[in-house]
Parts: sequence; C-alpha cells; structure tokens
Amino acid sequence: MKGLSFSIIFVTFSLFLPGCVHNTAEDQLQDFITTHIAQVELITTHANLTYWKASTTGNRQDYDQLHQLQIEIRQIYSDPQGYAFIQELRGSGQIEDPRLRRQLDKLYYQYLRNQIEPDLLKKMVALDTKIQQRYSKFRGTMEDKEVTNSDIYTILTTETDSRTRELAWKASKQVGEAIIDDFLQLVRLCNKAARAIGFDSFHTLSVITSEQRVEELDRLFAELDELTYEPFARLKDELDHILADSYGVTPEELMPWHYHDPFFQRTPLVYEQDLDFYYKDKDVKALALATFAGIGLPVDDILDRSDLYDREGKYPHAYSHDVDRRGDVRILCNLQNTERWMETILHELGHAIYSKYHDPNEPWLLREPAHSFTTEAVAMLFGRLSRNPAWMQKMLGFTQKQRAEIEEVSRKYLQFQQVLFARWAMVMYHFEKQLYANPDQDLNNLWWDLVERYQLIKRPPGPPDAGWASKLHFTTAPCYYHNYMLGELLASQLHHHIVHTVLGLESDRNVSYVGQKAIGDYLRKNVLEPGARYHWNDMIARATGEPLTAKYFVRQFIE
Ligand SMILES: [Zn+2]
Repeated sequence: MKGLSFSIIFVTFSLFLPGCVHNTAEDQLQDFITTHIAQVELITTHANLTYWKASTTGNRQDYDQLHQLQIEIRQIYSDPQGYAFIQELRGSGQIEDPRLRRQLDKLYYQYLRNQIEPDLLKKMVALDTKIQQRYSKFRGTMEDKEVTNSDIYTILTTETDSRTRELAWKASKQVGEAIIDDFLQLVRLCNKAARAIGFDSFHTLSVITSEQRVEELDRLFAELDELTYEPFARLKDELDHILADSYGVTPEELMPWHYHDPFFQRTPLVYEQDLDFYYKDKDVKALALATFAGIGLPVDDILDRSDLYDREGKYPHAYSHDVDRRGDVRILCNLQNTERWMETILHELGHAIYSKYHDPNEPWLLREPAHSFTTEAVAMLFGRLSRNPAWMQKMLGFTQKQRAEIEEVSRKYLQFQQVLFARWAMVMYHFEKQLYANPDQDLNNLWWDLVERYQLIKRPPGPPDAGWASKLHFTTAPCYYHNYMLGELLASQLHHHIVHTVLGLESDRNVSYVGQKAIGDYLRKNVLEPGARYHWNDMIARATGEPLTAKYFVRQFIE
C-alpha cells in the first residue's frame, strides 16, 4: 500500500498537471483502467438491457440496436493505441500488484482478440451473417419434400424402418453442403486475422485469448480418452445389441442414422425413463427457489426480475444474464413442470448465483466468472439435481421404493450420457483444431476418421460429404466446444470436494444438497465471491486442492 501523504501530493499535482505526473507503471495502469471502465461499463450495461428487451419481446429494432452497441464495444477493444499501451505495460514486468495484474491480463486478451484489420473484419462479419441467414432459412428434404428439425427428431427417435431413418438423417446434414464454401472461406479469413497478430491459426488464438493452452487441452482430452475408451466400448456394444434388435438388423449393420441423434451426442431413448411423471404436479420454480434458499444462497430477488414463462415472440430457450455486475441478475426461461425445465431452471440459477454473489468490492473487470466454463460447471452442478435420486426423494417426497426404482435407471442413463458426451466432445475438439490448422485438407474424411475412432460409429458407404458442417456450433461458437466438457469435469471435481471434504462423507449416495448451508458457504467463499480474481486454474486449485483434472468425472460416472 502506498503512503497517505504520497497520494495527497499525487492528487494535488494531478489537478494541475493532468496526465504527466504518473511516474509509476501501476499508476498509469490504474488510470487507464479508470478511463476504460468509464467508457465501457455504461455501454455494456446498456447492451445487456437491450439484449434482455430483444429476447423477451422478439422485437426487430431491439436486435438492431443491440448489434449497434456490440459494434461500439468492439471498437473500444480494437483501438490499436490502447492495445499498444497495454502490451507495453504487460511486457515491462513492472505491474506487481496481483489485482492489477489480473485486470491487465483480462484487458490484454480482450484487446488482442480484437486487433483485426477493419477491412478484414468487415469481410468476416459479412460472411458470418450470410452463413447464419442461410442456416436459419435452410430446410432439408426427404425425397424432395421439405422437412423441419422436429420432423427429423421424431423420425430419428421413433421410426424403425432403416431406409426412412437414413433419409431423415441425411436431410439433417444437407445444410452442411449448402454453407461449406462460405464457411471454409470464413475459416481462412479468421486464420489470416490470427496470423497477422502472430498466431499459427485462429484456433490457437481463440484458446490463448481465453486464457487456456493448447497443450493443456490436449493433455486433458488424452486423459479423458484413455479413461473413457473401454467403458464406452462396453456400453456402446450393449446399446448396439438393443438398437439392432429394435430395427431387425445385426449390430454390424448399424449405420450413423440408427442412433437417435444426428451426431450421436445424446443417449438413445432406450435407457431413458419418463421422469416428467414425477414433475407434472409440482411447481419447478418453487422447487428451485427452495433448493437455493436451503443452501443459504437465496434467489428470490433474481426470480422477481426474471422472465419465466412462455410467450409469443419470446426467445424459446433459456439463459442467465448479469446486467450490470452490481446485483441485477435475471434469468429467462419458458418453464413447464417437466424434468427438462426442472434441470434448466436449476442450471440457469447456478449461473445466476455465480453472478449475484461476486464480491462487490472487487473491481469491475474482475466481477465476472473466472472463465465461461467455470460458470458452466456451477450451472451443471445444480442442473444435475433434477435426476439425483437423493434430491428427488427429499424435494418430491418419494418413498424408499420409488427412490430405488429411479436409482436403478438413472444411474445407467447418467453414466451413458456422460461418457457419450465425452467421446463426442473429443471429436469436436480434435476436428476444430485440425480444421483451423489446415482448412484445405480432406476434411470430410477427417471427420469420419475421428467419429470412427472416438464414437465407434461406422462411416456411411461412398464418398463422405460436408454433413459435419451442419453442426451449428462450428459457426455460432467456433473453437468453444471443449469448454462444455471442461464444465462437466469441474462440476464433478466440485461435487467430489463437497462430498468428501466439505461434508466429510465417504460416498455421495445420500448427498441431496437439500438444506446443506455448508455447501452454499463453501461455494460462495471459494468460487462465487472471487469472480475472476484468480486465473481459472488457480481458483480451482484453491477451491479443491488441485488443478482441473478428469479423474473425478471418471470416478463419478464411469468407474
Ligand atoms: Zn449454461
């Protein structure tokens, strides 16, 4: 801490000689941050409110205004002078205060990511818009008849005729061929932008500027591959027999269209049970409210500001929204009393408590989650409760017998779903990495090489097409998919720490999270309050005693 007298002199001086008395790098940085926040805070809050308005009404003008505000924010971060200043300070090694260093890192990556030459950026935005429009207007066809996504879903989950399934599956992929040329052009432009600022590809740029390292992700995914391969092969073999029987074919004859989901990223319904039955007479909002109140992290104020029920024109999915980093946190849902919406409201409120319980005394730049995947982890930790037999027993008033029934099936379902998702995330991670490394290689065959290797699904006969590009995430959230997996890993790591260290138990068999204030206290102090005060892996090491690892995910779901 600096002496009081110094700061008085400093203030007096600065009244007369603005801008030139700051002789330490830390003072210069603090000044820069103060000016920067004055510029960025209001407009960010304004953009957040506009997004809320747009998504709750569906109003075109609000979306246009939002787009305008996003451009303004982007302009702030693309300023080359600001970037040069930050880069120089960061290289000087003169910033010692840990809080200032964290803020400097946050600013540095934010600016770095936006150092794109304006003409190139314009081309990228135009191409991206064209792809999105093509995507949203496109309808696949089956024997020249247009089909919607929900038609395809119905066929893939209920149809037993293999030929019809094949046509529906192919219809789900047709948009890939329709956008592939533009998409690959966009990939090349992204690479060009990344190379201009010293990265080998846009993938590397994306990973580094979100404070991750490619080698670190490679290592986590390799660990996960090794630990999940055999259990997955076993579960899939069992599933193949069930599916083959249902279609009257042999397991060897199963093709990609026989797995209830276009990308085999969700468990086929053969193990699914109808959990909706247990929720149809309940109020999912009241259950969520009680759950968070019970662990000492009340959410009444969040729910009061939220938009929870279905309405014409409203965004049909769900999200959580930190409007101003000063406590105005809201969620948007379209609640029904079903298991899916039980999971969703618990999930979104998990994000929301992360925002609400930040330490208000931290600087603005650090009042956000340590990483997008760490807030995903907290959301998943709570979302998983909707299928947790111990939680269901307490909250829904099950008898012992009912709980035992649920336990049997849900264990199998959860295990399969998690291991399946891990294998699918490996395909996405490795494919995107190689896509940006060389967009001119034979990508269609690369895709099926990875699918065969990680998901154990056979490629269809004949030359493969660009059906892979029908996966929306390639265009809407490029180089991001691995974060969903990291979120699952951290959710399990936190759960393990809560069970064994916070609650001091041997097993999680009876851990319901209901009424356990110790859980809320632990999360608040170790995860929510610090916000982005530490690098995500330091936060995880402080909160759980070790950096992020796949081992607790494997222990929870696979062993
Ligand atoms: Zn989420």
